[in-house]
Amino acid sequence: MAKCHIQLVKLAKPCIILNFDLKSYVFNVSEGFQRYLSDYSIKTKMSTQIFFTNLNATYINGIIGLLLTLNFDKQIDGTKIYGPSGLCQLFSAFRYSEIGGKSINSLSCHEFQGKNLIYQKKDQYYQEIFEGNIYPVLNGLKLVKYEEQESLQMYTDEYVEIVPIIHKNNNISYIIKTKKIKGSVSTEKLQLLKLTNIQKKELFQNHQIQLGDQIYPEAYFREPDVEEQGILVLDIIDDLDLSQIDFPNNLRCILHINDPKTEIYLNFLNKVNVDHILCNQEVQNEYSDSIPKTKFICNYLNSKYPFNFPSFSNNYSIQNNRYIQFQANYHYILHPLNKRGFQMMAPQMIGQTSQIKEINYQQTPIRQYKSEILLQFLGTASMRPNKYRNVSGILVKQFNSAILLDCGEGTFHQLQSQNNFDFNQKILIWISHVHCDHNLGIASFLQNCSNVYFLVPQIMIPWIVQLIEFYQIKHTCYLCYIPFDNYNLEQEFAIQNAKVQKFNEIKLQQLQELFNIQLEYVNVDHCPQAYGLRINFRDGSSISYSGDTRPCQQFIQLSKNVDLMIHEATFTDDLQKNAISRKHSTVGEAVESAILANAKTLILTHFSQRYCRTGSCQQQKIESNQIQSTINNETYEQYLNTKTVIALDFLSGLLDEYPNLVELSQHLQQLIES
Ligand SMILES: [Zn+2]
Ligand SMILES: [Zn+2]
Repeated sequence: MAKCHIQLVKLAKPCIILNFDLKSYVFNVSEGFQRYLSDYSIKTKMSTQIFFTNLNATYINGIIGLLLTLNFDKQIDGTKIYGPSGLCQLFSAFRYSEIGGKSINSLSCHEFQGKNLIYQKKDQYYQEIFEGNIYPVLNGLKLVKYEEQESLQMYTDEYVEIVPIIHKNNNISYIIKTKKIKGSVSTEKLQLLKLTNIQKKELFQNHQIQLGDQIYPEAYFREPDVEEQGILVLDIIDDLDLSQIDFPNNLRCILHINDPKTEIYLNFLNKVNVDHILCNQEVQNEYSDSIPKTKFICNYLNSKYPFNFPSFSNNYSIQNNRYIQFQANYHYILHPLNKRGFQMMAPQMIGQTSQIKEINYQQTPIRQYKSEILLQFLGTASMRPNKYRNVSGILVKQFNSAILLDCGEGTFHQLQSQNNFDFNQKILIWISHVHCDHNLGIASFLQNCSNVYFLVPQIMIPWIVQLIEFYQIKHTCYLCYIPFDNYNLEQEFAIQNAKVQKFNEIKLQQLQELFNIQLEYVNVDHCPQAYGLRINFRDGSSISYSGDTRPCQQFIQLSKNVDLMIHEATFTDDLQKNAISRKHSTVGEAVESAILANAKTLILTHFSQRYCRTGSCQQQKIESNQIQSTINNETYEQYLNTKTVIALDFLSGLLDEYPNLVELSQHLQQLIES
C-alpha cells in the first residue's frame, strides 16, 4: 500500500486530495467538500494537511465544513493550513466570530513567506463558550495567542516535501516531492517460508536471515521500494507564472487547476512530456454528480409528484483529448517504479444504488391552490450534511423576492442545481443563530448575488463584515441585526477583534417594506442569541420558524394561529435526554408546541444523522408519545397523523398546499428502507 493516491474532487473549483498510508494532503477546499466526502464515502487519513493555491472564495468556502468533519471524526489534531498571504487574516475572522472557532481552536495557519498564526491549545475563552455554553464577559476576556515566527519557506514531513512557487497574483503553485517509501513486507513470503516470530525479529534486526544453508536478505521479503517522485499542482493565472516553474526529479504528473487557454500555456503542455491532468475540464460521468442520492430520489419523486419535487438531468460527456481530463471522484494511483501513467479506479459509492420502494400514487395534474408564496426545503439535516440531506436552509419565494431561513453550507448549490432561481432578485437571509450548520453558506450568496439583505443576531455582524471586506464585495449588501441586551455592537466588534467595522445598515422597518412582509422574532432556548421568526405575508398568510430550540413558550406565543409552523425535531422522544442536553427538540415536543400554538400545519425538519433517510418520524410512530405532556394521546396522535409534514430536501409547495402534503410525507417515510 505504499502508494500515492490522487483523488480529484470537482466543486466550484477543482480540489485535490493526495493520500498516503497515514496522511492526506488536500489542495483547495471549495464549498460542498464536506457533503462530497459524505456522498461518496471518501475518508481522509488520520492526519490531514491543507494547502491553498488561491484565497478566492470559490477555493476556500468549504474549509470550515471540512474542519468540522475532521473535528467530528477526531482527526483534527495536527492539521495545519498553508497558503498565500492573507490566510491568517481570514482565519482570525473565522475564529473570533465563533463560527468555526470550535473546529479551528487548536489549529495554526501558515502563509508561505508570510505570517504565522498559532493558537494556544484550548484556551480559556473558547472553553467557556463552547463547553459551558456561556457567553464570555467583556472584561477579563483572553485574547488569542498570536505568535510571530520565522516565515515558512516550505513544508516537509516523512512522506513529502512541498515547495511553494508564489506567483505575482498571490496564487501559488506547489512542487510536491514524495520521499522514497520502503516497500511493505509481503506476508505471503513470510508465510511461505514459515518464519516464526523470533525469526521475523531476527530478520528485521539483521536485515537478513539464514534458513537452512540459504541466506535471505530483507529485500527478498519486501515489495519494491517506491522511489522519489515529483508532482506539480499548478495554479497558473498569467503566462508569466509558467516561467517560475521548477521541475522536480522524476516528475510524474502535472495537475492543472486552471484550463490552459493561451498559446504559451498550451506550448508548455506540449513541451513537458509527462501526464497532464486538466482538473478544470470536467468529463461528466456517472460518478461526477454532486448530491447523487438526493438527485436520484428527487427524480423518482418528480415522476410521482411533479409539483413538489424537481427533476435533475444527467448529461454525461466524454471528450477525447490527448491530455487526461478531469474525471470527478476517480482515484489515480501513482505507480511505483516509474511505470508510466495512471491506473484509474472508479469510486466505490454510486448514487444510483439506493434501495427505494415503489410508491403507488400519481398526483393529479389539477391544482387548486391560490397562494403566491412557495416554500422549499433546501436542507433538512442537523449538524453536518449526509447523503440524503443537506444542512439547514429553507427558501420562501415571493413574487419578485426571496427569503432564506438559515443558510448552511451548500445552500447556494442546492438552489443553483435546479436552474430556476434568479440570483439577482432581492434576497433576504435570516440567520437564526451562530452555529455553523445554519450559516456557513452565506459567502456564496455574498459573492454571487447582487441584492442581498441580512437579518441576523448581533453576534454574526463582525464575521459578515469581515467576509465582505475580505472578498471585496462591491454590490448591494445591507445588514440588519437583532440587538443583544448584554452589550452593544461596538463591544461585539471589540470582543471579536474585528479589523473592519464599517457596513451598510438597514433598519427592520425598511426591510419589511422592501420585502412587503411583517417580521417578528423572539429569543428561543438554544444558545446565546438564538431566535425564532414569524413572517406575516401581505395576503394574510403566515409562517413561523423555530431555528434550533428546546420547546419554548416564547416561540409558541409567536406562532399563535400561524398557517405553517416549521419546527426542528432533531431527535425522537426516546432520546429526549439528548434533546435536553443539546438544547434541541423531539418530535413529540414539536408536535405539542404546534398544538399549543394552534398552528394549522406543522413541518418537521433538522433531523439528526440517525434518521437521515426517513426523518425522525417513522420510529416515532411506533414509540408514540412518550414525553410528559398536558395533551392527551388522542389529540397528539391525530395532530401527528393529519397535520404534520416531514420535510425532505427539495420538497416544495405553495403555502396553502402544505396541509395536503401530509399524505405525501407519509409516502416518503415508506420510500427509503432504513
Ligand atoms: Zn442546527
Ligand atoms: Zn444550533
